[in-house]
Amino acid sequence: MMKNDESMLFEYTEALVDDVNRYSKYYIMGLNYGSFRATLIDPSGKVIFDSVKKAKDMPNHKDRKEFLEAIEKGSSSVQRYSETLDTETVYYAVKLKSGEILRTSFTTENVFSLTWNLLWCFIGIVFFSGIISAFIAYQLSLSIVRPINSIDMNRPLENDVYEELRPLMRRIDMHQKRIKDLIDKISKQSREMQAITASMSEGLVLFNALGIIISINNSAKNIFKIDDSCVGKNILSIDRSELIRKYFDKGEDLNNKIEDLELDNHFYRIFFNKIDSEDNHVGYALLVIDVTQKRIAERQRQEFTANVSHELKTPLQSIIGRAELLENNLVNPKDIVNFAKRIRKEGENLLNLINDIILLSRLDEGKRLEDEQIDLGHVLAGIKETLEDKCKELNVSLSIKGEAPRIYGVFRYFNQLLFNLCDNAVKYNNPGGHVWVNFCHDDNNIYISVKDDGIGIPENAKFRIFERFYCVDKSHTKSRVGTGLGLSIVKHIVLLYKGKIEVESELGNGTEFKITFPKDKLCHNYLDE
Ligand code: ADP
Repeated sequence: MMKNDESMLFEYTEALVDDVNRYSKYYIMGLNYGSFRATLIDPSGKVIFDSVKKAKDMPNHKDRKEFLEAIEKGSSSVQRYSETLDTETVYYAVKLKSGEILRTSFTTENVFSLTWNLLWCFIGIVFFSGIISAFIAYQLSLSIVRPINSIDMNRPLENDVYEELRPLMRRIDMHQKRIKDLIDKISKQSREMQAITASMSEGLVLFNALGIIISINNSAKNIFKIDDSCVGKNILSIDRSELIRKYFDKGEDLNNKIEDLELDNHFYRIFFNKIDSEDNHVGYALLVIDVTQKRIAERQRQEFTANVSHELKTPLQSIIGRAELLENNLVNPKDIVNFAKRIRKEGENLLNLINDIILLSRLDEGKRLEDEQIDLGHVLAGIKETLEDKCKELNVSLSIKGEAPRIYGVFRYFNQLLFNLCDNAVKYNNPGGHVWVNFCHDDNNIYISVKDDGIGIPENAKFRIFERFYCVDKSHTKSRVGTGLGLSIVKHIVLLYKGKIEVESELGNGTEFKITFPKDKLCHNYLDE
């Protein structure tokens, strides 16, 4: 306690005692004591008034040292220390004239206590200022963030934002444009890619390193009989071939692998190609090519080769055999002419066969010779002349009906086509039989019909007569000579000019071959005229 405070207490108390003695004890009850405390105690120790507490709640003070000393000596000054509060209280008690004791007191706090109290004050201030700062910061950040949150990122420059955000908006706008350009570019590439793959006749399937299908084009969907739902599924769901299973079971590398697949009577060849991106394996492209036609052609070629060797061997053996007989003088001189005739005949057959084979292989190659103007009337007249002897020999008449058109094509092909049909119609006819060649046309097509009233074609042979080397049972055709290549050549030529050929035949009653050529394929030059 400061000395000043203590002396102030004494002075203040003395003045108070004077006033109470002079006036009344009630005088002190109406005063304001500030940091002092005043207590009025009656001689029995009962508290009559206290400036801090209610008198009735206070215990009897008769044992208090300052009370006892004031009763005895008239005044007393006592100083007491409270460990709990770490405070010191100075009591000054004075006996009034009325015998009652007026006690005043003053409580002081030491440095620690002061610091402690100050610390709490400080903590309180910090706490409250913290709350206030947090509140202000929150409000401030709200006011900053609110316009940012309401920014329309799609049109950054159209936003009404504070000036500091303008550079940011400009940069966002720039990036937006760059991203949009990139997306446009990627979308365009994707559309182009889709358009290309959609029109591909080959099947194309892309799957990632985990075997998940990423993309599949229309052809592949048709081949595997699936729809778009396979995208996102495993490649095994569309193809369980040995190679694919090995890829999953043993992690086999599929790059440049080729797999053959047979589906619904079609043959496919599947090519696997690895897709790498910056040295990372990202998946595979699977290309599916329909090789059915190629397989059939291969098989036909093999059969053709076997047939050719056979067909060539027979007349050659006959020629060689007869020549040997002649060479060894084993032929009766009167039969020599006949022998020579037979050798010539076999030689002619051989030549015909070789010519047919050469023509067929040329047609197989798909090489178009130079088209030229042809008058089919002239062509047919030439054929009629060639077949004249044969017609006479077999007693078959050949007549031409309708106006033969002028066309634009390869003379040799059309000559061969009409010759083969007429030759067959004469050859597979009966004595006294007829052959009618008829031409007609409409706006779109040219129609050619070669009809005979000959032996006809058995029902079970009709669908095979266009095959190479196919001849109807010799017993039926009465061993009429033929290479079995004539109709095959006819069909090839018809297809070359995008036409179609049909056959109607009744066994014993005759046959009709009907050919339709689209005019624009045969008469393009004339149509222009
Ligand atoms: P080929 O050289 O044996 O005549 P083609 O390919 O021309 O061979 O004909 C195939 C087969 O079709 C012939 O063997 C013949 O039996 C039959 N054929 C073709 N044209 C006629 C026809 N007009 N009448 C009856 N049979 C025919």
